[in-house]
Amino acid sequence: MVGPGEYICDVTEGITRVEDLPKPKLVQHSRNFKHRLCPDCQHSAYRLRICTRRLHDLGDPLGVRPCDLVITHSQHRCPKCNRYFNADMEDLAMPRSHYTHRVVALAVRLVVEDGLPYRSASWHLWRDHRVFVPWATIQNWVEATGEKS
Ligand SMILES: [Zn+2]
Repeated sequence: MVGPGEYICDVTEGITRVEDLPKPKLVQHSRNFKHRLCPDCQHSAYRLRICTRRLHDLGDPLGVRPCDLVITHSQHRCPKCNRYFNADMEDLAMPRSHYTHRVVALAVRLVVEDGLPYRSASWHLWRDHRVFVPWATIQNWVEATGEKS
């Protein structure tokens, strides 16, 4: 019988190839619009095409699977200044980031508040939150935070 406090190793312990890890649960989001205002000149810009972006989020704490957001979003071209831009997604993640704000914030807290080394923080994020973040990426995030303060 397994009692409280008994050590049970993580089900993914020993897996060395990313493709062998549990497949992520996909959560759909939409940021798809016919028109958006150009961030440079405020002119109305029509939709040029529809794209998708994938973001790694915190996984289901009760399950073993990671969680990815799949964002269907519009890309626009401003007819006045010719700028190309995506529909705003900065409530979910920084531009060009592969991770949500929640993942970045938690990773930085593990290092800054809890004093975990980068490699331990990386393992903690996977074991307890089912999001795989290379430790060097966590280091970049923490160093970026340090530059701002
Ligand atoms: Zn413009």
